Amino acid sequence: LDTPHDKPRLWFDGDIVDADALHADLSTHALHYGSGVFEGIRSYATAHGAAIFRLPEHLERMRQGAELLGMDFDVAQATEATVQTLRANCHRDAYIRPLTWVGAGSFGLDVSGHPQHMMVATTQSLVHLNGARARIGVSSWRRNPADSLPPLKLCGGYVNSILAKREARSRGYGEALFVDHDGYVVECTGANVFMVKDGRVTAVEHRDALPGITRDTLITLSGATSRAVTLAELQDADEVFACGTAAEVAPVAEVEGRNYGDNPVSRELAALYARVVRGEESTSHAWLTPV
Ligand code: PMP
Repeated sequence: LDTPHDKPRLWFDGDIVDADALHADLSTHALHYGSGVFEGIRSYATAHGAAIFRLPEHLERMRQGAELLGMDFDVAQATEATVQTLRANCHRDAYIRPLTWVGAGSFGLDVSGHPQHMMVATTQSLVHLNGARARIGVSSWRRNPADSLPPLKLCGGYVNSILAKREARSRGYGEALFVDHDGYVVECTGANVFMVKDGRVTAVEHRDALPGITRDTLITLSGATSRAVTLAELQDADEVFACGTAAEVAPVAEVEGRNYGDNPVSRELAALYARVVRGEESTSHAWLTPV
């Protein structure tokens, strides 16, 4: 664990290999049609070495996505692959990216008969720049409706997030907020949304939103209520924050022209979350998989 390998390595179809030794076939089905499923997971340095936060929950969500595409997914193998990749790269504070996808074959849409692949990559997490609060614009794009595309981490579904992110950037915002036809808040492009009003914490609930694992963690930690929230209500709140594995707890400075104050409750929750993921709170131990 202590001598870093000079080249990034990844787990691919059962072996740890040098990342630059691998190339995907240009007729890869997933490249053409988005027929893959991925996860975004994090590991953290704890007092007892590196540990992965809520790994079983992430891999169960990935299994559900794979099942939807008719792909096999072995949670035990994915667990082992994740641990092996972190060890091979000597990563402690890391972002972990497992991906399983439909490989090369015919150009038809039928995925049966195509080979299936799996990889796990890890990258060192950057230290967070505390205080850089998100400015969020309301997207003119709608979130993929759950009855057209279930809210799982299906590769093709993320084109919807890419469109919203592009639009937000072009309008000078850092992030986009999806709102439905009836004015209800859905989520951001890669994070769920919470609000704080009169000291009460509320998790935005929407059937089209990804059931986030960070969201679930924060509901447990804060006792937040989960319910539908309109954009008007969100803009009337005292504080708003976004949350996700990569974003962690991100206090929001602005939602489409509405500026929030100092976000004290969000900051407190961000600090609590930072301790929980690093195993510094007794509640967190069941959520950590040692590397
Ligand atoms: N919504 C979307 C669209 C996402 O991509 C993510 C990141 N996985 C989230 C919410 C947050 O989910 P989690 O807390 O499980 O990372």
